Amino acid sequence: MSWLIATDLDGTLLDDHYDLVEAAAALDKQVAMGHEIALASSKTFSEMLQLSALCSRSPTLIFENGAGVAWPERLWRKSDAGPVQDGFRIQLRGDGYMRLRAMLRGLRRSSGVRYQGFADMSVAEVADLTGLSMAGAALARERQASEPLRWLDSPEALQRFEHSLQQRGYRLVQGGRFHHVMPRTDKACAVSALARRLAEMHAARIRVLCCGDSANDRAMLRGADVAVVFPRPDGSFLVLDHDGPAGDSGPAAVFRAASAGADAWSRAVAGALRRCSSA
Ligand SMILES: [Mg+2]
Repeated sequence: MSWLIATDLDGTLLDDHYDLVEAAAALDKQVAMGHEIALASSKTFSEMLQLSALCSRSPTLIFENGAGVAWPERLWRKSDAGPVQDGFRIQLRGDGYMRLRAMLRGLRRSSGVRYQGFADMSVAEVADLTGLSMAGAALARERQASEPLRWLDSPEALQRFEHSLQQRGYRLVQGGRFHHVMPRTDKACAVSALARRLAEMHAARIRVLCCGDSANDRAMLRGADVAVVFPRPDGSFLVLDHDGPAGDSGPAAVFRAASAGADAWSRAVAGALRRCSSA
């Protein structure tokens, strides 16, 4: 039977060499076997289009950590709303970037907290802070539903800020360099929505294999039938131990990849599918 394979990008399908051609070839191989692909990343839609354009068939793009989903045309439903951009139907959780920015400006005015968001920075500043090229930084600034912040205030102020965001229907997610303000959703919610849609279209339950390496992948990995965990740069692995609500039993099988990057990704996914497809 076919699977939905949902994968994180940085530190999972992509390693430091950032070879998008190899990554697209690895995804194409799974599509040729009849599987459905979703890319699930903290990246923006604009950033993810580069890889998607190299694929033989457009994957579903879960962008900005699940704050937005870009549906390829073959998965559209008549009832879908949302603008079409570069051949994808865009659906956002929450109220979109303009309202999020307005909410943040209001909060900054009323509480006096100090932070710098991507919208406050020039492309050159984003490039400087992230290590991205100028072109890459420009794509990272094309946000639709979430805002990365560099926190410039105290840890106590951060706690109060997080509480205020929750009251307004948003959440704060800690990343490596940045805190991300986003609607109350995550990659796992988007993967579930996609799995439900595929099940409806194929009139059958679809099994889900998820690949990831970081804390923002944990819920997605725990919600999968099969999880493939990729090592961090220091060789350690994200722990998937139970920390969710009762009744959340976690994936039926967990595999560990040898390293990040397209080659290791292909081997790990093929191995996991071989072991689990007959089960
Ligand atoms: Mg990652």
